[in-house]
Amino acid sequence: MDRAARRWLRWMHPPRYAPDHAALAALGGQAKHWRCPRCGQTGAFNAHGALHGLAESGPGKDALRGRRFLCSNRGRRPGCGRTWSVRLAHVLRRFSVRTAALWRSALGWLAGLGVPAAWEAARSGFSLESAHRWRRRWRRAEPARRTWLCRGRAPPDDPVAAITVAYGTADPLACFQQREQRSWPGFGS
Ligand SMILES: [Zn+2]
Repeated sequence: MDRAARRWLRWMHPPRYAPDHAALAALGGQAKHWRCPRCGQTGAFNAHGALHGLAESGPGKDALRGRRFLCSNRGRRPGCGRTWSVRLAHVLRRFSVRTAALWRSALGWLAGLGVPAAWEAARSGFSLESAHRWRRRWRRAEPARRTWLCRGRAPPDDPVAAITVAYGTADPLACFQQREQRSWPGFGS
């Protein structure tokens, strides 16, 4: 485990996103130290099962998307009884497409392609209808995205550069979710 990963594991409040499966699995040992963001209790969290859902491709709903933790109020535990979900950074909340394929599609429309052409180029394996839905979400979140990417600086002319300068080219939306510990704008609820 590298230094960044160890630093990440020292968080005393539960994260929203974990970088990979190993880090997600390691959270089980950390949860008892977390302070609950809802009720403020420390020491009440325990592992509460895996978060499964649609795989990006193929049938079945058993792809691992994250883990759930319970701020336990059972027995004499002092928690609030609510659960907290930690997702893998490449998972988009309520979507089965993962960050890399969404980004490939976004590169198309950010380059000026229409949704069908961008969809064709991205070869995501999803329907054109899905691509239209992503595009709508993406567009609606424009103000939120600019707020995050600019942070007081002048808005960049090139939205692709604005994203990749900050979050890399490999899988920038996953990088955003991991580093900022928040959902990619437009894909959080
Ligand atoms: Zn709680």
